[in-house]
Amino acid sequence: MRFFIYLLTAFVVLSSCEESANSNVKEDPISKRENKDWSKEFKEFKDRTIKKGQKLSDELKKKWKEIEINGFSVEDDMKMGQQLYDEINSSTDYKIVSKIENPKVYEYIENIKKTILANGSFRYKDKYEWKITVLNNDNTINAFCAPGGYIFIYTGILKYLDNEAELAGVLAHEMGHAERRHGTRQMSKAYGIKILLDFIFRGENSQYFTQVIGGLLSLRYSRAYEREADECSVNYLCNTSYQSDGAAGFFEKIVKEEGARSVELLSTHPDPSERIKNFHSLKKELNCKGTQNYSERYRTIKMLRIK
Ligand SMILES: [Zn+2]
Repeated sequence: MRFFIYLLTAFVVLSSCEESANSNVKEDPISKRENKDWSKEFKEFKDRTIKKGQKLSDELKKKWKEIEINGFSVEDDMKMGQQLYDEINSSTDYKIVSKIENPKVYEYIENIKKTILANGSFRYKDKYEWKITVLNNDNTINAFCAPGGYIFIYTGILKYLDNEAELAGVLAHEMGHAERRHGTRQMSKAYGIKILLDFIFRGENSQYFTQVIGGLLSLRYSRAYEREADECSVNYLCNTSYQSDGAAGFFEKIVKEEGARSVELLSTHPDPSERIKNFHSLKKELNCKGTQNYSERYRTIKMLRIK
């Protein structure tokens, strides 16, 4: 009985998950896929199950695996991202580049971020934080975006890239992960329904809460999500003056220098050659017109000494 009440409440929570998103935005093909309304299907399933008097938990577990649904709410994403942001900021493992001492670096990245967000296909443009943090570590060629839009960029990747279109492409890719809620979607699949229900009903009191936040840092996205974020990257840059396949430049460099040094992204993401091809073909497919890579102004920023 207790589980049954949980289940009913879960329907309410689940069906309200996506409603808070702005529906008045340009739909892109990926949104359409994600926007499929599962609530009807869940209701039918619930009625059928109750009628038959079946064991709820097993069937729900099976159903959960069958369809891809995010058991976390958008607010959960934001809460988790904030928590992760706080942890990184208070941890001695990370050296945060000061915004006050390095205003030009932050202003520069802020402007790129604004251009990406102006694209019109973000559902959480005004809801998420989209907060930028630069992490001081020249050996880490990486960037990531936590749920809720907390963007982290290592100085290592800023120094590795050759032009602004590449950085815009990488940022758009990472922002795509947050916008598409890949972190919590992947966790929904990985952790299963038990942990989700515990999290949904006990929130921060959930015994798994810390575990889930910790999991975000070591999270490896599935190939499908990487592909989706690559599609986001081209899509978000398509109506800007940037070469919309800018992220390809990053992977081209990796392929060229493969073996020369350890690149974290290379070992965790799908085959870079395949991704390069996809970036170029998607740009063509979407008929993106941008041609700029702004290598000059990128050089100026790269030359700044980070304090
Ligand atoms: Zn990615």
